Amino acid sequence: MAEKLDYSNLGFAYHTPEKRYVANFKNGAWDEGGLSGDSNVVLNESAGVLQYCQQVFEGLKAYRWKDGSIVCFRPDLNAERMFRSAAFLEMPSFPVERFLSALDEVVKANADSVPPYGTGGSLYIRPYLFASGIVIGVQPAEEYQFRIFTTPVGPYFKGGATPIALMVSDFDRAAPHGTGAIKAGLNYAMSLHSHEIAKNKGFAENVYLDAAKREFVEETGGANILFVDREDRLIVPKSDSILPSITRRSLLYVAEEILHIPVEERPVRFSEIPDFKECGLCGTAAVISPVGKIQDHDREILFQSGMEKPGKIMTKLYETLSGMQNGEIPAPEGWIRKIV
Ligand SMILES: *Cc1c(COP(=O)(O)O)cnc(C)c1O
Repeated sequence: MAEKLDYSNLGFAYHTPEKRYVANFKNGAWDEGGLSGDSNVVLNESAGVLQYCQQVFEGLKAYRWKDGSIVCFRPDLNAERMFRSAAFLEMPSFPVERFLSALDEVVKANADSVPPYGTGGSLYIRPYLFASGIVIGVQPAEEYQFRIFTTPVGPYFKGGATPIALMVSDFDRAAPHGTGAIKAGLNYAMSLHSHEIAKNKGFAENVYLDAAKREFVEETGGANILFVDREDRLIVPKSDSILPSITRRSLLYVAEEILHIPVEERPVRFSEIPDFKECGLCGTAAVISPVGKIQDHDREILFQSGMEKPGKIMTKLYETLSGMQNGEIPAPEGWIRKIV
């Protein structure tokens, strides 16, 4: 292994992996692709990604189970989402089946760096696709590169989940009919400014409202938002400019089919928020981060579940889904891809 790692103290950081997967698109076709020992990418100064930000990405994890096996959680959905993201930015999509076999290859090659079972750590996997070809007039490039690298990460919350505080952003994340529903680096580039503002004011993240009217709740910079109402229903904002989170989709299924919690997926007015009991953010990184309060300029909205501990329903959802990922609770058919 390249680096000796202390698995109990890993944060979320890049540690150079032994191997990464690389494939190139040239002359209208993807080449065979394969593993590479080189962590650097050398590009022409006028590469499309550097000039016009043609880039899309994914994020998922490999988990070590008690029996030593290594699995991924619903990676077919990451492959399909990246396929759609690429098409929207006029990039050649990487075939879903090839995405999955590349994933197997790169996880196997880095199996030594998947944190042991019980540490709460996992192997974070970053597939991405960018324009490597030269452009200067505005147009899609003709050459692209697809890569997958991995890096071991620690548990998202050390010593149990503590609720976070959010603030309502004065900026917008995604316009109606824009790129909000695709996973592209460009959506993050423009969120950095408001993220720094939130961080400097002591908030963990921004809540973005709908860009057209600022009436409806969209999501945060990098995670979807969930609420629990007074009737213990799971309330999930619906909008075409929200990134379709795989964690959210899985949680909705778990809520309805396994825990028998009623689910409502619909546009959610910001004015409804004070009526909700619980709030959480969902995504691959944390599964669910409980939210204790949301600051809307001078007004503080404190959820009933408070800032001390996660709400009851969020806890149940979190325990069930992370139990499936860690092999402690059986998952629905097709959700687990065993790699090693
Ligand atoms: C990736 C991402 C999410 C979470 O999606 P998961 O598939 O659950 O990891 C949510 N919002 C945004 C903006 C994202 O980029």
